Amino acid sequence: MVYKVKDSYVNSFGPSMKPVIKVKSGSVVTLHTLDCFSNQIKDESTLVTEIDFSKINPATGPIFVENSKRGDALKVRILDIEVADRGVVAVIPGGGVLGSMVKKPVTRICTIKDGYAMLNGVKIKCIPMIGVIGVAGDEDVSCGVPGRHGGNMDTNLIRKGAILYLPVFRDGALFAVGDLHAVMGDGEVCVTGCEVSGKVTLELDVIKNLAPSWPVLEFGENYYLLVSHEDINKAFREGIKLAVKILEHSLGISWEDAYMLASLVVDLEISQVVDPKKTVRIKIPKKYVKIEQLLEAIRMQIL
Ligand code: CA
Ligand code: ZN
Repeated sequence: MVYKVKDSYVNSFGPSMKPVIKVKSGSVVTLHTLDCFSNQIKDESTLVTEIDFSKINPATGPIFVENSKRGDALKVRILDIEVADRGVVAVIPGGGVLGSMVKKPVTRICTIKDGYAMLNGVKIKCIPMIGVIGVAGDEDVSCGVPGRHGGNMDTNLIRKGAILYLPVFRDGALFAVGDLHAVMGDGEVCVTGCEVSGKVTLELDVIKNLAPSWPVLEFGENYYLLVSHEDINKAFREGIKLAVKILEHSLGISWEDAYMLASLVVDLEISQVVDPKKTVRIKIPKKYVKIEQLLEAIRMQIL
C-alpha cells in the first residue's frame, strides 16, 4: 500500500513538528506539495514582493517513521517526482548572486508540457528535483535554511532514482518534503528554480545506528556529501575533511594517503549559493567506498 499525505504543511523543521501520519520502515509514501510560494502566485502580474512571506517554503508532512531513533539514519529512496503544468520563476531586488543589480521584481510563469518548460519563449528540458527535504533537528529551523537535518539544500541531484541518507535526531525522524523545481541549474543563481507544486513518491527505511553527520546522497556511480555553511569555503573544508576520513576508514590507508587520493578522485560541486547557508556537494566515486563504511566513517557523534 502507498500512504498519501496532503494538506498538511510545516514552515520549519524541529521539535515543534507534530506528525500527521505514522508509517513503518519500508513504507512507500506519496506527498502532495505546494510550490515554494505556497501557490500564492497565480499569474505574471503577481510579484514576489506582494505575497505573504510567512507562508514561503512549505514542506508537506511530517511523517513519523516507526522505530527510528536519534543516531539512526533515515534512508529516503526517491521513486518518482511529478510536477504540475506550470512553474514560477522570479527575480527579486536583493535576491540571488546579482541581487544588487535587480532594479524591480519580475515574475515569469513557465508552462510545462511533455517534459519541457517554456520560459518566455525558450524551451528547457525538465529534470524535476526536490528543494526542501529533511527531518526534525534539535532546534526549530525555517524550511528556507539547509543544515545537518537537510532542509532547503536545493540540490538538483535530489531527483528520481537518488537515495538520500539523513541523520535522525528525534523519535520518528519527522520527515517532510516540499519546494519542487521542474528544473534548476547548479547554484540557483537568481534565487528561484522553476518553482512548482506536484507530488513525490518515496520509500522510507531506517538504518540503525548509522546517522551521518551531514546528509549523504547516492546517485548514479557516486556518493555526495551535502554540507551547508554561511561561508562556502567552510562548507568545502568540512566536506573535504569528511571525504578524507571516509577514504582513510574505507581503504585502511593513512590520513596523508587518503588526502592525496581525495585530490585525485574527489570532485567539489555546488548545489546552491543563494540560501542563508550555501550547500556544496563532495562527490566520491562508489568504486572506492561502500555505503555502510561511508556512514560509519562520518557517524554523528551523539551527545
Ligand atoms: Ca529552495
Ligand atoms: Zn524552490
